[in-house]
Amino acid sequence: MSLLAKRTSRVDSSGIRRVFELARSMKDPINLSIGQPDFDVPDLVKAAAVKAIETGHNSYTPTNGIVPLREQLIVDEKVFTGRDYKLDQMLITSGVSGGLFLSLLALVDDGDEIIIPDPYFVMYKHLVNMNGGKAVYLDTYADGFSIDADKLSALITPKTKILLLNSPGNPTGRVFNPTELQALARVCDKHGVLIITDEIYRDFAYVPMQSISQYTDNCLLLGGYSKSFGMTGWRLGYAAGPKEIIEAMAMLQQYSFVCAPSIAQHAALACPQTDMSMQLSDYAVKRDLMFEALSGSFEVGAADGAFYLFVKAPEGHTGDSFTELAINNNVLIIPGSVFSEHNSHFRVCYTVPNEKLLAGAKTLCALADRT
Ligand code: PMP
Repeated sequence: MSLLAKRTSRVDSSGIRRVFELARSMKDPINLSIGQPDFDVPDLVKAAAVKAIETGHNSYTPTNGIVPLREQLIVDEKVFTGRDYKLDQMLITSGVSGGLFLSLLALVDDGDEIIIPDPYFVMYKHLVNMNGGKAVYLDTYADGFSIDADKLSALITPKTKILLLNSPGNPTGRVFNPTELQALARVCDKHGVLIITDEIYRDFAYVPMQSISQYTDNCLLLGGYSKSFGMTGWRLGYAAGPKEIIEAMAMLQQYSFVCAPSIAQHAALACPQTDMSMQLSDYAVKRDLMFEALSGSFEVGAADGAFYLFVKAPEGHTGDSFTELAINNNVLIIPGSVFSEHNSHFRVCYTVPNEKLLAGAKTLCALADRT
């Protein structure tokens, strides 16, 4: 008999593992797989972290996070969403991953249906499965990775509890426009379906970006610092939404994470004093560069936001087989099957120096043109 709990068998990392297995033999690859910014934490924020350590902020913080940071986020969210979150509606988490983990732990019962637009961020499927929920996929391929409100309506059953949204999206690069957001909020409100909106890439939007939280009260907003400030290792995020949900998440945090890292919380107080516009406009340039370089040989998806392009594999290839070919030619990409129930695309992350991007694009195009 296995010692392991059944929930571990409901989670599977074979897709990603296979890619990294293939990639092991690569020497100095052009790595378009990374999924994190290539800029460093701003100096001001680093200095604030050092100061936090030196001035003794090395203990546990309150479970919900330090009050000044929660207050700062309340002000930021008022500006962005127009919502007036109260202190008891704001929880500091260990990254957006922590927010996703706690929210699904707090909300999902056995057999609950969670609607996940496909393609999706890989963690969603596995966290839903881990918690005994049923992932119901809303296929967005035919709609340019937008969500059709009628298709959403058609998937809702009495067991539907949550719609899990991500805009700007990983891996699609899609940003949902205000009309779409309003239509989705209307459908969810009509059926009492909670929306969890993962807005970790909010600052990487190359078209106007809104939060669906401004259109419905029935929404849990997850945001984070990892991508915007190049601090993926600092593990800092937040959840804002209905008090009842935030309180349940805080209770579960008390018996799991305890609190988000104290040093990161104190350092994040300096984030509003930094100017990241250079880094963000650099990424807009990279997006244009890569979009243009690939468009001649491939069908390329949205490119509205985040730092990914979701690209259709050329005729005669699946996403997996084209990824294998690219890896054999020293370009590391991720097959779409890791993020989807389909196996037709691959994901390119463009957070690398421009000459690497162009070299990678050249190889990918040559491989496509050869098939
Ligand atoms: N959501 C999405 C869509 C992501 O792409 C990521 C990171 N790749 C996360 C959440 C997790 O981010 P964090 O570092 O805040 O846990």
